[in-house]
This record gives sequence, structure tokens and C-alpha cells, in this order.
Amino acid sequence: MSGPVQLRLVLASANPDKAAEIADILGEVPGLVLLPRPDSVPDVVEDGDTLTENARLKALAVMEATGEPAVADDTGLEVSALGGAPGVYSARFAGEAATYADNVAKVIRELAAAGATEPSQRRARFRTVALVAFPIGDELQAEGEVLGTIATEPLGGGGFGYDPVFVPDGGGGRTFAQMSAREKHCLSHRGQAFWALAAKLREHRA
Ligand code: IMP
Repeated sequence: MSGPVQLRLVLASANPDKAAEIADILGEVPGLVLLPRPDSVPDVVEDGDTLTENARLKALAVMEATGEPAVADDTGLEVSALGGAPGVYSARFAGEAATYADNVAKVIRELAAAGATEPSQRRARFRTVALVAFPIGDELQAEGEVLGTIATEPLGGGGFGYDPVFVPDGGGGRTFAQMSAREKHCLSHRGQAFWALAAKLREHRA
């Protein structure tokens, strides 16, 4: 995006914690105007088998409802000792109505049951797919990932989701929940994905 040209993007995420982070990250991109997800758009059933499929489902639903380009994020936590679970099921790992705390407790429980006591046995990664769907029918997507270790107990009051148990590499041994939002973005799957997406949007508009 150069000069005064502006691109309007509707945020497709219905999760307020994710929407806030996306707005924070993309808010620094010149020429981008982010619009909130209209309440009238029904929740999308995220029944894709991959992060990309789910991100596309969410972006398309909001793009079709609003007639404007829409931006979505789908994110999964993949724990090596659990065979990559919860992955695409991260939001409902402990059941359809699971809270963040329920999901965190289940990860801790399953790692204990697997005998994964050493940090080297508790390796994990977060992956995010960020995707923009345009009314003209094309799309742009970018991925971000961060490697880390699952803590044995939740630590910190910031962030959301699995942040209290995710200790990213390069973060001085702290969980994401023990960092400021800015520190988290600099290391996180979502920061990487949306900064890469912003670069693609700039090329797309050039
Ligand atoms: P989804 O992308 O909405 O399907 O997110 C799946 C789930 O992953 C969310 O409900 C959160 O529990 C978790 N999650 C997504 N992003 C993050 C993050 O940045 N930190 C911690 N947990 C996250």
C-alpha cells in the first residue's frame, strides 16, 4: 500500500481475545483500516481439517456477509508428546463448552499421563494461518509459528487460551501470559503470521 490508498478489512474473528491481538498487530500497518466483525454475521462452524480451511471458512463467511475483504486467523497448539494434539481442535480440546482453563488443565494432565516431566519431553508449537478473502474471489494467506515448551503449571495473568503454559523459545523462560502484549507479538505465531500477511498485502496493492 503506498500513498493515500487505503484498504478496508473486516475482522472475521469472533474470539475477542484473538480479534484484539490482530487489531493490535495490524493497527501498526499504514494504509489499513480494520473494521469490527458485524454482530449480524452468524458464528461459523469450524469443521475444516486444517488451519487454512478453517481460516478460509471464517474469512469467506464475513466477506460474503459484508461485501468487503475480510481477514481471519486460525490457530492451533501442537504438542509433540501428544502426537500434535490439540492442533486444529485447540478451542474444544476438553469438550465443546470447554473454557481456556479446562483446555490448559487437559494439556497438563495428558502430559503428566504420558510421563513427560522433562522440558525436552514437553516441546510444542503454536501455528497460525492468517488469511484475507477478497470479494473478487482471490485470497492471500501467510503462516506463523513459534516453538516452545509446555510448563508444568499455569503462570502469569496476561494473554489468553494456552498462554499461561506456553514458554516460547527466546522469551527468557517466561510464559506468554507473563509478557506484555508487545513482547508476545514479537515472538508469537500471530505476530509472525500477520506481519507476513501485511507484507503480502503491500505487494498485492503495489
Ligand atoms: P481458533 O483459531 O479460534 O480455532 O483458536 C483455537 C484456540 O487456540 C483458542 O480457543 C485458544 O484456546 C487457543 N489459542 C489461539 N491463539 C492463542 C494464543 O495466541 N495463545 C494461547 N492460546 C491461543
